[in-house]
Amino acid sequence: MRNIDTIYVDGAFVTPLGDERSPLFNPATEEQIGAVRLGDARDVDAAVIAARRAFPAMSRTSKAERIAMLKRLSAAVAARAADLVATMAEEYGAPGYFTGFAVQHAASVFLDMAETLESYEFRRTIGRAEVEMRPSGVAAAITPWNSNYGFICSKLATAIAAGTTIVIKPSEMSALQTQLLAECLHEAELPRGVLNIVNGTGAVAGSALSAHPDIAKISFTGSTATGRAILAAGARTIKRVTLELGGKSPTIILSDADLDHAIPQVLMTGFGNSGQACIDGTRILAPEDRLDEILGRLKAGAEALKVGPATDPAVQIGPMVSLKQWERVQSYIRLGLEEGATLLTGGEGRPDHLDRGWFVRPTIFTGVTNDMRIAREEIFGPVLCVIPYRDEAEAIAIANDTDYGLAAYVQSSDPESARRVAGQIEAGRVTINGAPHEPLAPFGGFKQSGVGREFGPFGLEAFLEPHAIIA
Ligand code: NAD
Repeated sequence: MRNIDTIYVDGAFVTPLGDERSPLFNPATEEQIGAVRLGDARDVDAAVIAARRAFPAMSRTSKAERIAMLKRLSAAVAARAADLVATMAEEYGAPGYFTGFAVQHAASVFLDMAETLESYEFRRTIGRAEVEMRPSGVAAAITPWNSNYGFICSKLATAIAAGTTIVIKPSEMSALQTQLLAECLHEAELPRGVLNIVNGTGAVAGSALSAHPDIAKISFTGSTATGRAILAAGARTIKRVTLELGGKSPTIILSDADLDHAIPQVLMTGFGNSGQACIDGTRILAPEDRLDEILGRLKAGAEALKVGPATDPAVQIGPMVSLKQWERVQSYIRLGLEEGATLLTGGEGRPDHLDRGWFVRPTIFTGVTNDMRIAREEIFGPVLCVIPYRDEAEAIAIANDTDYGLAAYVQSSDPESARRVAGQIEAGRVTINGAPHEPLAPFGGFKQSGVGREFGPFGLEAFLEPHAIIA
């Protein structure tokens, strides 16, 4: 049992004033492995005071100083990659392919932001105006449990590049990962108060931070419902807000797709991060003329996926993060059946070979129409819907008939058809034929998937405010 008893404020690990505790679990065994002491509004206040005090000096740092800080942070994270992977595997349960990616990504987002900063012009002349891009003010970040390291590091990297200071409230379910990451970040020797991390619940520490009058900017990743609450809490003081919310992303298989290549990618993007990723392609749009062939391949592919604990390196799908998430996913599988959809594979309960852990059977529904709740609501587990379409126009209409617009995927053997379809999808990022992640391209959503963008120059500008002098 490990007790996380400190938060990180003003460059030091300190005991929070809040004294409630929350248990921490290994989701693959359901065993309690620790507890975290939760900060409250007083701890948020202390962190904001430290961040405010550090802001003037941080806002005057040069590009070179910020780049040096980003490089030190990246090196500090990379130095403990193996420990970070092990802790994420234990507390979150993600399979090896995902923990490896997540830790490498957490280290590289600092270098990606350094690269953005190299070429970013903070001063421009526009007609008679001298325009300077200034940091918006003290920033806050509120992050979820499904990729704790990556979200903390990308939001911290952007704050540093912008020349601001930050208070971060991570998910209370990821406290072992947060503690280890904070120890790494501490090694980078940032000026005191530039980085502050407060463990706490959303209802207490999260709400205090999102309503705090001295916070100018909030960057949030999590559910759409919480995003709404944060937007409302920030409205009183007109906070700048970046929201990365949920998704119900379509994967469009065009009728000329090479299925040998496409189906493994469709399953990978659908079940990515064990179905606990906002960008997962959870609505599979299949051409009617190839439906049987596609269903056969999806079923065989899904049934070949190995579900189990992260201790097995061959595992591709891990457990849900908590009992609450497991029950939520089970309730959606029941709902799918009640709504009249048909199980192609999977279903309620744990996979047969596992007798404990919050594991879900990789599930694919057919006979789904886009008005069913399983096709409209984010399930956040390994549950996919296959929706048939007649022609390209109908595929695009179904893809866009959603409250969300975070990601979309197109599979086709013809680059021109793929681009034509991709161009008509209302989503922040459309990926063709499984193209790799593009780290400096904007990331964020249309519609209820969010507000604003992260990464690269678009992400940086979301922490900046233009100041014009006209003479
Ligand atoms: P959540 O939105 O409740 O929590 C995310 C973060 O917000 C956590 O740090 C939480 O403590 C904090 N928070 C919660 N309520 C708050 C409030 N009122 N004010 C300020 N902060 C608050 O998400 P969750 O409970 O972790 O997961 C629930 C659902 O969220 C999932 O099923 C999934 O649909 C979605 N989700 C999306 C993403 C994403 O990357 N877009 C990530 C995680 C979860």
